Amino acid sequence: MSTHTTTARPATAHTARAVPAAVLAELRVTDDAGRACVPHTATDGDDPLRCCLRPSAPGERIALVSYAPLRRWAAETGAEPGAYDEQGPVFIHAEDCGGPAPSEAYPFSRPGALRVLRRYDAAGRIVGGRLLELPETPADGFDQALTEAFADPEVALVHVRAVEYGCFHFEVRRP
Ligand SMILES: [Zn+2]
Repeated sequence: MSTHTTTARPATAHTARAVPAAVLAELRVTDDAGRACVPHTATDGDDPLRCCLRPSAPGERIALVSYAPLRRWAAETGAEPGAYDEQGPVFIHAEDCGGPAPSEAYPFSRPGALRVLRRYDAAGRIVGGRLLELPETPADGFDQALTEAFADPEVALVHVRAVEYGCFHFEVRRP
């Protein structure tokens, strides 16, 4: 592979999707649990922001809101996940942040981190999953695990979650 190219090109085989801008605008008013959004100032930083797929910095205005990724995806595609619908806490910027910058890495990844890749079919039903311990080169681990997931023709969507907190990190759709 050439290293001389100057065109921006994602180095990852799959695309990590942030929470869409239109959904963020709604979550900044009322979250997917029906609660009002309550912004606060990040202290330590390092909260994984699902709006722009980077960690927060101390002093930034952020909010912890409940988000239902499968329900939001289903609203777009017409799927009916029924009981598979789930919601959980995610950090987002309190104001519009412009979304993720082009990146050559998967977000929130570091060697040794534990992730679950949960697979869904086009109807929004879970069709398996796997545990992934990120290797020394995390992007290779994600590339391989996601390619493996989409090798199953039934898989339409993958949710990447942190193991310890169970919280949703990002979504990957069939390429
Ligand atoms: Zn953001």
